Amino acid sequence: METLIERASRDLLRSKHAIALTGAGISTESGIPDFRGPSGIWTKDPEAEKRAYQTYHKFLRDPKEYWEDILSGRSLLGNLENAQPNPGHYALAELGKMGILKSVLTQNIDGLHEKAGSQRVLEYHGSVFKLRCPSCGSRFRHDEYNLEALILEGQLPPRCGKCGGAVKGDVVHFNEPIPSDVAHESLEEAWKCDLMLICGTSAVVYPFAQLPRIARQHQVEVEQKAKSGLYFVKNEAAAVIIEVNAEPTPLTSEGISDYLIQGRTAEILPKIVEAVKELSR
Ligand code: NAD
Repeated sequence: METLIERASRDLLRSKHAIALTGAGISTESGIPDFRGPSGIWTKDPEAEKRAYQTYHKFLRDPKEYWEDILSGRSLLGNLENAQPNPGHYALAELGKMGILKSVLTQNIDGLHEKAGSQRVLEYHGSVFKLRCPSCGSRFRHDEYNLEALILEGQLPPRCGKCGGAVKGDVVHFNEPIPSDVAHESLEEAWKCDLMLICGTSAVVYPFAQLPRIARQHQVEVEQKAKSGLYFVKNEAAAVIIEVNAEPTPLTSEGISDYLIQGRTAEILPKIVEAVKELSR
């Protein structure tokens, strides 16, 4: 019997516009905790989640205080600068190099898909390595600002070099709108794709969790031949939706995904790449 890994590799080879959606689960094996898995940060400390709901509001109310908090506190996810991609990130990058995977839409803020070599990465929730001006949408690298000097000179918050607005971290906080460029491109990808490979996300954070639902709603007309020899047109799902996750998610239980390959992304994704190579020989 065909295994789910073989099925996924066949579906990938058949696809014309495959995309991946990723969440914190793909980075746990790089030593970065997720939020809602069994050892997740919110699972262990629900109060930390409640505090996180205040962050964006704080930026709007008092951007100076927002920056003082950020610069004096420790990041919830630890030091992401030293984090390295794991075999799951490399497998997606390899599918990209093979021309199969057209883009990676990630909720992660850790920059590991780019580090692994994925070419087109849409960082839906931003990046810890960038700053962003919510007024005009410009993004800046961290090293374009000397934040330590700004504190000493009493010049916080940092100001946008283009429009002068108060700049925040690029990471999207609870209740903050998704930056319009990435929201727009992600929507386009979700509508255009004929295969969606969803890796390591609990799929409960909106609007990201809407993307698989949009892909599922998309139907295409397919011409088919009846036994009588007559042709007729039938509506079919536009995209095959595959989940790779440690546990079932709402996408599994609601039938949004066609199938779940249950397990670790760092183990399963490289196996899918091997199976794709095997089938292409
Ligand atoms: P989540 O914490 O809500 O869910 C992670 C899911 O991945 C869970 O279902 C868990 O069982 C599964 N998982 C954990 N390890 C896995 C593994 N090795 N293989 C397969 N599955 C695994 O994460 P989310 O859905 O991405 O939502 C959390 C939000 O927090 C995101 O919006 C993201 O911005 C942010 N976040 C980012 C990082 C990061 O950048 N690495 C880390 C934590 C949280």
